[in-house]
Amino acid sequence: MEHRLDWSSYETAGQGDAYAGIPATGGDFAKAVAVCINDRACQTKPKGVMCPSFRATDDPAHSPGGRVKVLKDALNGELGEQPFVHPAVLDALELCVGCKGCKRECANQVDMAAIKIEVLAQRNAITGVPRRDRLFGTLPRLLAQLPWLGGLVRWRNRSPWLAKLGERWLGVAATRQLPEPAARAYAAPAARLEESSPLYPADERAVILFVDTFARHFEPEVAEAAHAVLTAAGYRVEVLAPAADDAEGGRPLCCGRTLLSLGQVEAARTEARRMQAALRPALARGLPIVGLEPSCILSLRDDHLKLGLGPEAETLAKQVYLFEEFIAREHDRKRMTLALKPLPAGTTLVHGHCHQKAVGAMKSLRKVLRLIPEFQFEFVEASCCGMAGNFGLEVEHAGISRRMAEMDLLPALRAAPEAPILANGFSCRHQIREGVAREPVHVAVLLRQALA
Ligand code: SF4
Ligand code: SF4
Repeated sequence: MEHRLDWSSYETAGQGDAYAGIPATGGDFAKAVAVCINDRACQTKPKGVMCPSFRATDDPAHSPGGRVKVLKDALNGELGEQPFVHPAVLDALELCVGCKGCKRECANQVDMAAIKIEVLAQRNAITGVPRRDRLFGTLPRLLAQLPWLGGLVRWRNRSPWLAKLGERWLGVAATRQLPEPAARAYAAPAARLEESSPLYPADERAVILFVDTFARHFEPEVAEAAHAVLTAAGYRVEVLAPAADDAEGGRPLCCGRTLLSLGQVEAARTEARRMQAALRPALARGLPIVGLEPSCILSLRDDHLKLGLGPEAETLAKQVYLFEEFIAREHDRKRMTLALKPLPAGTTLVHGHCHQKAVGAMKSLRKVLRLIPEFQFEFVEASCCGMAGNFGLEVEHAGISRRMAEMDLLPALRAAPEAPILANGFSCRHQIREGVAREPVHVAVLLRQALA
């Protein structure tokens, strides 16, 4: 089997054999599957992230362990010559939302989200990329290249006829609203701060701000808020732009998340390389890179290490931070001065994105929220919101997506109808808007409101 991802980190897995039976084929990928020891811990429901599809269906077949069982059969040759297009394998992975709960919470760190990427890539190589996956995967590129796309989405959201057509042709659920691109995409401040400016930080405090596709095209106010807060905290902020010799010049950078999660690995690798080239000078200078969307930062820190991008990818993984992680870190180091004022009274409900939890950023978020004087907040105990990028918009998944949201998250929000909501994930905010018709904010927006 020719791997589409780099599984060499599993080369030594299973030696001396702690694991129950490495499948006959599949090399290091088979070892990544075999790290499951079948103790069925993922088929119980303690508090935590794992596993939203099991929690919502109560069916062990939709737990990480249930998936491993089918994959082992496939790699042992029990599902024929082409196991990656076998319905049993595709059904097993169908409801995995790639939340990384298993990698974080399973004792053996089964990384089903990465395993699913490999399986989809293998399937794509045989059957081609399905039309809908091509559309969702290339969305960042389409948003940059088709200025009329926003208008079409707004029309589709207001026209039941067009929504039905989209459902029939593309499998996008007519019952769901699509996120609408903003009238104007984010534009980085034109001028960089000159060293002669009195505002130029004396101790060279500089930070690279990565504005992802979602902030850039859908919620530019999130990127603007992050820029304003970092500047107010005394940092010189440079918005990451493509390298001077980038073949696609003006097209904004993207981490490739939308492509990677749908198994379009080669295209994702191309995006990752563009980012790597743009970041090379910053990496060499040891500058911190700050991002806003948990999924994008998880990609840079984790999934990109499976793209065979060399040692630079490892350096980047260590130098990239979520906005809240960076603020918390700099505050701990006493390098940051952020004058904040109290916000209007009331307890804010905080929903953590699965990938914020996967990278361990919730502690930082708590620290950052404590910087706001008198600020009251409560973390909602919930698993995945169920939207998971394109997953909740797909006609066959819209129902289960809502069920995931209704398990804990939406009832908790409804129980406090007046409470402001904080959610750092773009998909989570969309699910919340649709589910309870309230407007959640990113922590960068909240901090900007609190700037004294
Ligand atoms: S995936 Fe992890 S938690 Fe689930 S059965 Fe396997 S080892 Fe246990
Ligand atoms: S990535 Fe999330 S949804 Fe998929 S198997 Fe793991 S815990 Fe379940």
